[in-house]
Amino acid sequence: MKSARILAGLMVISLTLHACGDSEPPFDILITGGTVYDGSLSPPQQLNIGIRGDRIVRLDAAADAPAKQVIDAAGKVVSPGFIDPHTHARADLLDAATSSNLNYLMQGVTTVFIGNDGDGLRERRARVQQMRTQGIGTNMAFFAGHGDLREQVMGLENRAPTAAELAAMQRLLAEEMRAGALGLSTGLFYTPGSFADTDEVIALSRTAAEFGGVYDTHMRSESAFDLGLLESVGEVLKIAEATGIPVHISHLKALGRDVWGQSGDIIALIDAARARGLNVTANQYPYRASGTRFSSALVPQWARADSREAMYARFDNPDLADRLRAEMQDNLRIRGGAGAMLVTGNDSEWRGQTLDEIAESLGADELDAAVHVIRNGDPSIASFVMEQQDIHAIAIQPWVMTGSDGSPGHPRKYGTYPQVYRDMVLEHKLFPIERFVHRSSGLVADTFGLCDRGYLQPGRKADVVILDLQDYAPRADFQNPEELAMGVTDVIINGQLAVRAGAYANTLPGEIVNHAALECSN
Ligand SMILES: [Zn+2]
Repeated sequence: MKSARILAGLMVISLTLHACGDSEPPFDILITGGTVYDGSLSPPQQLNIGIRGDRIVRLDAAADAPAKQVIDAAGKVVSPGFIDPHTHARADLLDAATSSNLNYLMQGVTTVFIGNDGDGLRERRARVQQMRTQGIGTNMAFFAGHGDLREQVMGLENRAPTAAELAAMQRLLAEEMRAGALGLSTGLFYTPGSFADTDEVIALSRTAAEFGGVYDTHMRSESAFDLGLLESVGEVLKIAEATGIPVHISHLKALGRDVWGQSGDIIALIDAARARGLNVTANQYPYRASGTRFSSALVPQWARADSREAMYARFDNPDLADRLRAEMQDNLRIRGGAGAMLVTGNDSEWRGQTLDEIAESLGADELDAAVHVIRNGDPSIASFVMEQQDIHAIAIQPWVMTGSDGSPGHPRKYGTYPQVYRDMVLEHKLFPIERFVHRSSGLVADTFGLCDRGYLQPGRKADVVILDLQDYAPRADFQNPEELAMGVTDVIINGQLAVRAGAYANTLPGEIVNHAALECSN
């Protein structure tokens, strides 16, 4: 009897010791000595971060706590993995040769959003399945794409949907939302998004809002053509007003000489809307050149409608020649002339040449040369259409975050994040390091409701990046756009090392991240 009581007492003592941490299991990874930015706007702290499984468990671990692996981050910055709200990484993630998403990992990005610009994941079931089986190097979250939904229901018809067609699009959208989509993306500048009027977008945004989604848009116009820049911002605000959905403007910019200097008007419109209680945010990439296709840059929308063949037929139609030439000439003027358009498309014979150089080598005038190039591959181009003053005025807004819009042939796919650091933090001192980190991580997570990521906090997923800021820089430029960035020494995704000591660790630890209502319910 007495001995049993003593035994019970000993058991209590041993349980207490256990709970005190004496025999707490070792961390899987312990990051020691780093300067830690937690993803908020708080100043940095010297902390040791303990990771167990796929979660951050301690920010105040002892430097000598038992751990299976210790990463010495002395002299380096430790931050949440960056979340890129606008990429075109779908094809890379699906291709086993590029599914590591190395161009993003080496910038410190641990989660990419795909399906922007109205594109969607397309054939979602098969593609999600493929990513799950094959593995992906970074996390991925996706938008339902308006263009995709519209094309499924009504092909490339340039008209408003019937009530039945609209209902069909809403049903498809609801399915995407139930499958975890972040919200609805539109590309109202592109075919077939441009065929939709505002009411159609409002009706669909309402459906996305029911599921807690966000409206992400490549606006109808970012320049003086078509609807116009300020009017396009107005359209976004109208959609927010009508539906209550949080709206997010992708790659916000003032594109072309007719709208240079309008960043102030855009900011005033958005600030006023936010003051009225609308949830409006934007992302931005830090380059003066946009990336697009030759035809999208120069050929007016009516001439691009229906199909590529229809566009070629319009090129050949003598009745349209004068109008087409005049409008293309004006687009060229707005975009800064033939010297400001550089072919970047990987597979193009004109890669690395500007339109004026191409015209000279073909012995043709600029517009004929452009039509020739469009007919022969219509390559991607870099179009130097933005002013640094506008870029910087937009960048300092508290509702603006970094988004690469990474696309083939543009250095932003490999260099956006270190470029923001070099240009905006170091050179122009627009904001301090903590804001650089916040607008790359916590702000994105808050905007899109990723409750499990974006901050270094116990309980959140262990998406962590370690940077050597001395070296953190892009190597990609417009002549060599596919050079990996420098300065990221370690990347941890879901508790697994993806980059260690500056080298890819040959792992594919990425997960598919769902929208808030699904992700945060448990
Ligand atoms: Zn876009």
